[in-house]
Amino acid sequence: MASKFWSETVRRTEPYVPGEQLNLPNLLKLNTNENPYPPSPNVTAAIKEELDRKLQLYPSPTLEGLRHKIGDYYNLDTSNVFVGNGSDEVLAFSFMAFFNSTETIRFPKISYSFYPVYAKLFNVPFEEVGLNRDFTIPAEDFFQSEGGVIFPNPNAPTSIYMELETIKDILDSNQDKVVIIDEAYIDFADVSAVTLLNKYENLLVVQTMSKSRSLAGLRIGFALGSPELIEALMRIKDSFNSYTIDRLAIAGAEAAITDTAYFNKTTEKIINTREWTVREMKKRGFHVLPSSANFIFVNHYHYAAEDLYKKLKEQLILVRHFSKPDIENYLRITIGTDDQMNTLLKTLDLIME
Ligand code: PMP
Repeated sequence: MASKFWSETVRRTEPYVPGEQLNLPNLLKLNTNENPYPPSPNVTAAIKEELDRKLQLYPSPTLEGLRHKIGDYYNLDTSNVFVGNGSDEVLAFSFMAFFNSTETIRFPKISYSFYPVYAKLFNVPFEEVGLNRDFTIPAEDFFQSEGGVIFPNPNAPTSIYMELETIKDILDSNQDKVVIIDEAYIDFADVSAVTLLNKYENLLVVQTMSKSRSLAGLRIGFALGSPELIEALMRIKDSFNSYTIDRLAIAGAEAAITDTAYFNKTTEKIINTREWTVREMKKRGFHVLPSSANFIFVNHYHYAAEDLYKKLKEQLILVRHFSKPDIENYLRITIGTDDQMNTLLKTLDLIME
């Protein structure tokens, strides 16, 4: 339904549809790449303390404290850090701040489905670059873009990581344009592009606390970049509402970024679980793309992905199936606990008997 009251922007907007949220007891939810482990106990303690003390006061509009702590973690200055309401908001602000309506930006065709949504919403022309046959991103096709570049590393939903040397080539050939690397899953991968920030002022790295820090419900994402890029994001944020992050989220996020031991433990655990899950899936005839994320992207030689998705759902296991060309025969499966992965494998054995 369209309405005469709608603006042009609303008319051309097709909202992003996130993974299903079925509210069933006993559902094994492996469809939206959440962390199977709770956040650090320090997070809960910090939120409780804040709850008891200061809710009558506004939070800091500049988020200095949290930005400083994130900066410390990465050896960066507060002026290199921007914090938003989930990385989805950080990405939205980045589209507004760095891309415009006269120059075409590029992102991979198989990638995070929010990019085309934002591009249409903010009237940014875009070109979707096809992936190589092995689902890797063809870096050369991102050289010398007209309006800028955005892609996730590791890519989603393919889970494949792009080496920093290749990222450098993309940055070098786009010196006058902003290159946004969406590192939602980087903590399950290898080296972050954050290490390139001292060399490239056109680089914006976007990260989230939703995955490796177990805080999807708290909505904290952040961007790391040169002070001039960060200042642009601050301008956009302040124009909307300087108090975008509430006191509880700030307290929780500060506790999460400073509890490195807990973060290392849970992240390593998920990587180990991923590695044996991949081996077990392969034994069962699945083709598994090389994963550097907290999910795997798989297809089967004999069983159609959509059938497997439906049969798993009947057994109360929810995985992600995309009905997009090129990937309609693939499933994206979040890595859970060892027990959860065993349940998945046993259920697949029954389905594929
Ligand atoms: N980027 C990518 C590639 C993602 O998969 C997600 C999670 N769906 C996000 C960004 C957004 O995460 P959040 O808003 O929870 O920080």
